[in-house]
Parts: sequence; structure tokens; C-alpha cells
Amino acid sequence: MDKIYLDNAATTPLSDEVIDAMVKVMKITFGNPSSTHSFGQEAKILIENVRRQIAECLKVSPAEITFTSCGTESNNMIIQSCVNHLGVERIITSPMEHKCVAETVLDMKKRRNVEVIYLKPDKKGDFDLAQLETLLKDSDKKTLVSLMHANNETGNLLDIKKVAEICHENKALFHSDTVQTVAHVDLDFSDIPVDFASCSAHKFHGPKGSGFAFIRKSSGLKGIITGGPQERSLRAGTENVCGIVGLGKALELAVDHMAEYSAQIQEIKDYTIGNLRNAIPGVKFNGRSAEKENSLYTVLSVLLPFKDPMIGLKLDMKGIAVSQGSACSSGASKPSMVMMMLLEEEEMENCTPLRVSFSHLTTKAEIDALTDALKEISESFEIDKTNIQHR
Ligand code: PLP
Repeated sequence: MDKIYLDNAATTPLSDEVIDAMVKVMKITFGNPSSTHSFGQEAKILIENVRRQIAECLKVSPAEITFTSCGTESNNMIIQSCVNHLGVERIITSPMEHKCVAETVLDMKKRRNVEVIYLKPDKKGDFDLAQLETLLKDSDKKTLVSLMHANNETGNLLDIKKVAEICHENKALFHSDTVQTVAHVDLDFSDIPVDFASCSAHKFHGPKGSGFAFIRKSSGLKGIITGGPQERSLRAGTENVCGIVGLGKALELAVDHMAEYSAQIQEIKDYTIGNLRNAIPGVKFNGRSAEKENSLYTVLSVLLPFKDPMIGLKLDMKGIAVSQGSACSSGASKPSMVMMMLLEEEEMENCTPLRVSFSHLTTKAEIDALTDALKEISESFEIDKTNIQHR
């Protein structure tokens, strides 16, 4: 049986076109982009072409794009430099952020004595934006607001434009972790006054180890890696030319097919929701995951009506890869912070969260196989319950 991959929020497989583009660079354009000879300059041209392409996609200036090694590095760079170089004394964030934001914020609190305020989400995962506005109006402290665009566990979408406008009006800096949304939704930063954002190529069929930070030109942000003058001295180190070209190819494919893929994947997500509702009585969906408007179409957060900490392993043994949280915390035995925020105590005790995440490669036959596997597992719990009652 072919294995089934339903963990596309963790990472996506490389497209053939991306591999071909990268192999070409590895074989031919191997020069160091900082070298002044033709070998170097050919590599430099490739990088600058991708920078221009990203800028066009986000409707920003090429100088506002800094290549990094991943989403984690981009988020670290932005948050650390806001504190270290831009005088940020207070960070307003949420307990739903990816670890690379959450841990960096905590680090800034510990090492730089930054005040940290967490916006509490409601049971749907929404934030009270009036509270954010009040917090911003009530303090003169230089503030960075850091809220992710799409939650990687639930798919919940933030009203990024509204938050950016609130921050802008109240003279706060705004960083959004857009790792799950770049190349999946249309982002126009000429219309959204966000100061900083992040991207990671492996979330849209590009290579791991390649990402970028969007840094608004006027912000004055500096880098955290010192050394040579690469990336306008914002990020020292010889550029990952092959990874950058792979990112560019993956972005090109994603943008060219965005309308087609988003409709196709949304249909798969709707099909999954319908299938699971029919097959597993009592199944629920976390946050805004089952909604079309407020949820990213690639992510579905399921709540199974039985407790099975081994569910990921059981599905894996059937050849189906899903996730029980974000990939970074999937080794952890504790429920994720996101689930702790969203679930009632009774649900935490008796239910099992599961993240199913899709790509344009996902088929209905794969969803049927997942549904059958989950139905079988859920029925084994019914049998167990009967056995216990009869004992
Ligand atoms: N932010 C979000 C929302 C993510 O989902 C991820 C990856 O899982 C990251 C940041 C980290 O990105 P990377 O794997 O490129 O470091």
C-alpha cells in the first residue's frame, strides 16, 4: 500500500520543478555571490531575481526582503532586533504562537527584561482586538505586537489587516508570523501595514533551510548574525543560492496555481469534514478549523471523541502520516499550549486532538483511507467500553 501523507503543515514534498531548478544551480551556478568574477555574479543575479519575484508577490520593495535559513531564524531575527536595536520594551503576543516566537519572546523577557503581555484567546481561538487597542493606548512603552497570521495547529486566520491598522494607528510595531500563509493566500503588504513577516520555503513544496524575512524599509531593523556584508549586512554568511532558487521556483508555482489549488484543497478539506462527521459520531473540529472564511484551507484540527495518546503511532502503522500538534512539539507527551487554550477540561481528559493538513497532491481516496482507519480505531474504543461494562 502506498503511504499517505497528511502532514503538510509540518512540511511539504519538493516539487519536481523545484528539484530541477536546484540541481541546475548545484551543477552550474556554484559561484560565491560575493565574488566579483562572472561565476559569482551569475549566482548573485539568480538571488536578486528571486528577491524581485518575492517583492512583486508581496507588493513590497526588493530591499525589504532578507533571505534567511528558515521561518525560525526570520522570527528570531525580527523579535530580537526589535528589542536589541529598536528599543522595544514591551511585547504583546499570544499563547498560540509557534515555539520559535514564544521562546524568543520569553528569552527577551529573561535576558532583556522586556514586559510581555499575552492576549487570551476565547474558545474559538479569537482575540479581543478592542483589548489590544486599549493596551496600546494605555502605555507609552515602545511596543511590538507579534501575532501569527494562520495558526499552524488549528488553521485559525487572524484579521492581519485590522491588527496591522490598530498597531499602526497606535504607533506600535507589528510582526506577523506568516510561515503558514505565504504562497497559500494572497498577501498584499502595500495594503497591510505590517512591519515584519516571515516565510519558510518548505511549507509550499520548496526546500528546507530556505526562508526570508520581510522587513519594512523604514523600520531600521538590524541582523543577529554578524560577519560579512551579505543581505545588506542584515544577515551575514554566504547565501544559500540553491535554496533561494528553490524557494523562488516553489513560490512561482504556488502563485501561478493559487486559485486552482486553494479551491481544490478547500474541497478536500470539506470532504474530510463531511466524511469524519458521518463516520465518527461526536467528532468535533477545534477553533475555527471547520469554517471556510476564518480558517486556512490547508489545515484541519480534529477532536476525536475518545482518548488515544497512541493515535499518531496507530495511523503511522497503517501508513498514514498526520500530526498530533505542531511538528516541533510532536515528541512532547503534554497537550500543546494551543489545545490547552481551546479545549474544555473534560475534552482534554476524554478526547484526542489530531491535525490533518493537506496539499494539492492530497486525494479523496487518501481521505477515505484516513476515515476508514479512524473509524476502525474509534470502534475499537466502543468495543473496549462494552468489554469493561460486561466484566
Ligand atoms: N512558524 C510557524 C507558524 C510554523 O508552522 C513553523 C514551522 O512549523 C515555523 C514558524 C518554523 O519554520 P521553520 O521550520 O522554517 O523554522
